Amino acid sequence: MVLIGGGHANVQVLKKLCMNSIKGLHTILISEHFEAIYSGMTPGYIHKDFSKKEISIDLQRLCYNAGATFIQDKVIKLDTDHKELQLQNFPPIYYDLLSINTGSISDTKKIKIEKSSKCFFVKPISSLVKNLSRIDQIIKNKKNKIAIIGGGVATYELAFSLIRRYESNLEITILGKNILKEKNLNKKTKKNLKEIAKNLNIREYPGEVISISEKNLILKNGDKIDCDLSLVSTGASIETWILESKLIRDENGFIKVNKNLLSTNEKNIFVTGDACSIDNKPRPKSGVMAVRQGEVLKENIFLKLTGKNLIKFKPQKNWLYLIGTYKNYALLNYFFLSFHSRWCWRLKVWIDKNFINNFKFTNNLRMTKRNFELENFKNTIMHCQGCGSKVSKNTLVNYIKKTSDNIYLKDSSIVNNKSLQILQTIDHIKLFSSLNPFDFGKISYLHSQNDILAAGGVVKSLSVSLSVPFSENSVEKFYLEYFMEGIRFEADKNHCVISSGHSYKSQEPGITLTLNGEIESNVSKNSAKVGDLIYLSKPLGTGYLLAAYFNNSEMLSGDDFEKILNNLKKGNYFTVNSAKKSGSQTMTDISGFGLSSHLIDICLSSNLSSELILSSDILINSNIDLLRIFKSTGFDNNQKSSSEYIKISENHPLKNILFDPQTNGPMLITINKQNQKKFENYFSNETDIKPILIGRFIDKLEKAIYVNE
Ligand SMILES: Cc1cc2nc3c(=O)[nH]c(=O)nc-3n(C[C@H](O)[C@H](O)[C@H](O)COP(=O)(O)OP(=O)(O)OC[C@H]3O[C@@H](n4cnc5c(N)ncnc54)[C@H](O)[C@@H]3O)c2cc1C
Repeated sequence: MVLIGGGHANVQVLKKLCMNSIKGLHTILISEHFEAIYSGMTPGYIHKDFSKKEISIDLQRLCYNAGATFIQDKVIKLDTDHKELQLQNFPPIYYDLLSINTGSISDTKKIKIEKSSKCFFVKPISSLVKNLSRIDQIIKNKKNKIAIIGGGVATYELAFSLIRRYESNLEITILGKNILKEKNLNKKTKKNLKEIAKNLNIREYPGEVISISEKNLILKNGDKIDCDLSLVSTGASIETWILESKLIRDENGFIKVNKNLLSTNEKNIFVTGDACSIDNKPRPKSGVMAVRQGEVLKENIFLKLTGKNLIKFKPQKNWLYLIGTYKNYALLNYFFLSFHSRWCWRLKVWIDKNFINNFKFTNNLRMTKRNFELENFKNTIMHCQGCGSKVSKNTLVNYIKKTSDNIYLKDSSIVNNKSLQILQTIDHIKLFSSLNPFDFGKISYLHSQNDILAAGGVVKSLSVSLSVPFSENSVEKFYLEYFMEGIRFEADKNHCVISSGHSYKSQEPGITLTLNGEIESNVSKNSAKVGDLIYLSKPLGTGYLLAAYFNNSEMLSGDDFEKILNNLKKGNYFTVNSAKKSGSQTMTDISGFGLSSHLIDICLSSNLSSELILSSDILINSNIDLLRIFKSTGFDNNQKSSSEYIKISENHPLKNILFDPQTNGPMLITINKQNQKKFENYFSNETDIKPILIGRFIDKLEKAIYVNE
């Protein structure tokens, strides 16, 4: 099952999967961002009542708890004939069941927007949140004329929250051809909204905007309105990939669904939220509707997968509106009722927090789940092990056909070598739950490559053994192709030949790589000299940070996970090049044994000691409390085997980083003091980061490592 978009409905499906599991089902969520923004709390975020963390759902973590795989990317094509999705950056994905909940975008079809204009779109709401710091920059210290183009309730709520955010720095004009025309709003609410706007000096200007330039807007009747910045909060529109699909759509492009929320022409595609239009029962687009549909979607997906009858979604004609106005006040609208009060704000906060808190996981492990089975599950899988659990030949040959001519699966390959000496190394890493196998393929290649680089070599060929989960067809294909494409993505950069492979199924997916390399320069662990400087090529911390994240620590957000992942995907090839060009002959990679173990190896074999000055610059995440509280599984062993060689104060806040195991960790590089500038320049030219200076070698003393107080 593939879920596209972490909208208000799909997140509910994942939440249900946190408490229930369906044997035989594999779930993938594709979303543009690591975090989903809850629309109802966004105006509150703008006027600083809530933090970004409070209004966000961490999608990677939700997937981890749901037993699903998360892919951060954008779907760009849907081919319903082949049940195939094309993504912007990742390889294609095949689905058996699809759920689209991708929201909508601001409708700008009829507005000409000049490049020089400072124009921001309110939808998708995530882009508004992302752009807020840019808007802050524009508005900072200056009285600004802001135009909000739209005229719906969201436009007013947005205007109120901007006034509060920037206090007296704004003159806001709301422009629209249909100001407050929504028929669910009663007269009193409309009057109230207009009055509040007037009291806050917000101007209303009826009319249709046809163009936006750097300094002004032009209306259809020819009027010109001065503005320094504009926000487009016009009605909802739909993205091109949906318009280009074969899904039946309404006159505005939204996908038509039946009462079960299934596409009217594709019975294995659910569509919810702004992206859908209920056949014969159109309703205004709203987060409330998306949340309600989510309640039905999560049941229907379970019912469909387990072969039961689906339930109906009954769209309401009217619903409760709670519109934030100013300091802790909200306006309530329900049929003919309209109140403007503090208790309305408290009610709004209570409802919103109740929803969003469903997706927060407090420092504990995953919940116990109720078990279900796919409708036809019993007939399909029995793991006898007599076949060595091999992946099916079709899946393998289909993949190999795309990438090489070895379709008859030659028994072995010839690899040409310039020299009789080859460098060889083997590594295995187990797939982190919820991480997509494409990124994991990249990480496992980079992790293994470090051993060859640290020996002064370059990778020439590799053999791979893939362990994919017990699965058939689309799932088996997904793992095999994603693992392989991730490895290939990195291997191609080094012109490394993939010479042989093996694949099998197991409970623990992962990758074993054997790399062969050619020696380029003499690098060893025993040639460090007194005075040589010690650098790390990137920060440390993957061990304890992943431990914290996968223990559901609230101290890490989706944004923090993105940073960890980016670090895991950063290779050391160019950093080693800069070291070699600067005459370095001693380096090693920091792996599962941690920084101290690798530095001790160099000290002992070079007959030296080292002096370290540790600061939080060496951490991927600067929150030192995380380092104090969380430890990865390998930590204790690392500490046991290295402690006797180290002098460090018991209370040193960074002590634990010495023993933290790394996946694709940094290179530890030694540089002669005279070459310091040269190295730092090469390094900065070849990569987008700076090397981290952590210490120097000194004459041999009793201990191998001395750490500053
Ligand atoms: C300022 C403002 C305030 C609002 N306040 C309220 C309110 O108080 N109450 C209310 O009911 N409604 C409110 N709304 C309306 C609400 O924003 C939308 O109707 C609602 O967010 C739609 O929900 P959804 O689940 O359809 O999609 P969304 O919440 O928009 O989520 C869609 C997700 O899909 C992802 N995505 C999109 N395209 C792709 C792709 N191609 N590939 C992968 N991922 C993709 C997006 O990044 C996003 O995370 C407000 C709107 C605005 C602008």
